[in-house]
Amino acid sequence: MAKILEVKDLSISFAGIKAVQHLSFSIGQGEILGLIGPNGSGKSTTVNLIAGNYLQDEGEVIFNGQPVSKKLSIARRSHLGMGRTFQTPRPFGNLSVYDNVFSIFLQKYNFKDAGVKAGEILELSQLAPLSGLAASQLSIEKRKWLDLARVLATEPVFVMMDEVMAGLNPQEMLSSLDFVREINKRGITILFIEHVMQAVVSVCNRAIVLNEGRFLYEGEPREVLENPSVIEAYIGRKRSAKN
Ligand code: ADP
Ligand code: MG
Repeated sequence: MAKILEVKDLSISFAGIKAVQHLSFSIGQGEILGLIGPNGSGKSTTVNLIAGNYLQDEGEVIFNGQPVSKKLSIARRSHLGMGRTFQTPRPFGNLSVYDNVFSIFLQKYNFKDAGVKAGEILELSQLAPLSGLAASQLSIEKRKWLDLARVLATEPVFVMMDEVMAGLNPQEMLSSLDFVREINKRGITILFIEHVMQAVVSVCNRAIVLNEGRFLYEGEPREVLENPSVIEAYIGRKRSAKN
């Protein structure tokens, strides 16, 4: 399988905190790769490094076979086909749901085509009935979907989803998993960060585990969750949180 993304020996520290250390992994074209690990293990930092929000101290990001220069801006990385959601979503609150998506398509398409495409994406992301609301009127969960819809409007080939399912009830979770699968069916490779392990097992082909900024384990999701070192990482974290 051709690799769409490779990270090699990626490291970054913040004032002595080793947020990500010597991390290497790759994602094949068309894959849904899970990225899991306890709170603070470096998942969001990894996304920020790949997307260009943070610049690594060491290591390399390779996208579609091309090394991504540290100098390449977030916008240029997006033009290459990278998309990412934020753990805390940030759509434009005073714009309507529709305009949030439409305005992105309008950068590339004429008014009519942008409208058609915005309608499709809003339908796909189950936001069509809420099109007329201001983004600020949405629940936090729906704002995450709008954030994702805005990412899809940039027509990416690779999307990093950072805990887009937090706060959903079981029924909403199921339809959201269908949404993730549908995005993948359209040929988009996905890096899927999620706290709810059932979601990871359900949609991912493979999962990578981080612990304290380092690679801990990799495998088929169900097997990963049964691995003693992975269980210990999660339980150990809970124990220290209680102390
Ligand atoms: P996760 O997403 O796995 O919960 P993060 O990647 O958000 O973890 O954080 C990993 C570590 O890096 C944490 O200790 C966090 O406090 C630290 N960190 C992340 N971003 C910054 C930043 N901009 N400044 C300082 N510390 C940061
Ligand atoms: Mg995070």
